Amino acid sequence: MKRYQDERERMVTHQIARRGIKDERVLEAMRTVPRHLFIPEDARTVAYADSPVQIGSGQTISQPFIVALMTELLEVRAEHRVLDVGTGSGYQAAILAELAAEVISIERHPELAQRARKTLKSLGYQHIKVVVGDGSLGYQPAAPYDRILVAAAAPATPQALLDQLAPDGRLVLPVGARFSQHLEVWTRKDDQFIHSVDIPVIFVPLIGEEGWSG
Ligand code: SAM
Repeated sequence: MKRYQDERERMVTHQIARRGIKDERVLEAMRTVPRHLFIPEDARTVAYADSPVQIGSGQTISQPFIVALMTELLEVRAEHRVLDVGTGSGYQAAILAELAAEVISIERHPELAQRARKTLKSLGYQHIKVVVGDGSLGYQPAAPYDRILVAAAAPATPQALLDQLAPDGRLVLPVGARFSQHLEVWTRKDDQFIHSVDIPVIFVPLIGEEGWSG
């Protein structure tokens, strides 16, 4: 729909490019994926707002700028296999699927996973697999991954996620206290892990064995 396309274009120009996101592939993915279709119908008027939006089960779809920033930090290439932890609406998985060969997305709430599968199928994404489980432990059956993105905040970086990174793999996730965190970027070089810290963020908690207890 033209109205949503215009809103998307404005979102990319004003909220994302203007704040310093430069990777053209990321900007193009953000222009392409119809964010409003990942949001419950009664909230679609705010689909392109500069904020997170409620998606049900007490969860949110992240602010567009944060989705773009984490995706840029992840440095996804076309041949990559990516693990997306915290499927939520499936929007981040779709952005990653615009850039990568394969995306495995894991969500702990079965009803959110089911809704995300339906949305992604209706949009024709065939190289995204949505699974239900505790993503604080990664998803061993499809490991290793070239890239891992976590969209829920952990008290410390889960060892399972580092272990499931392929050589030269990269992991981006929010780490910190319950209500304030920083984005961390990890890179695997053989069995060495190098890490750097990016901007302050606020994410919902990663609930699980290597996350918060609930
Ligand atoms: N990426 C999502 C999107 O594009 O809509 C938004 C993610 S939302 C901010 C965080 C999600 O992480 C929630 O859906 C929540 O249920 C999920 N989550 C929290 N802990 C989890 C865990 N251990 N494993 C899998 N998903 C988890």
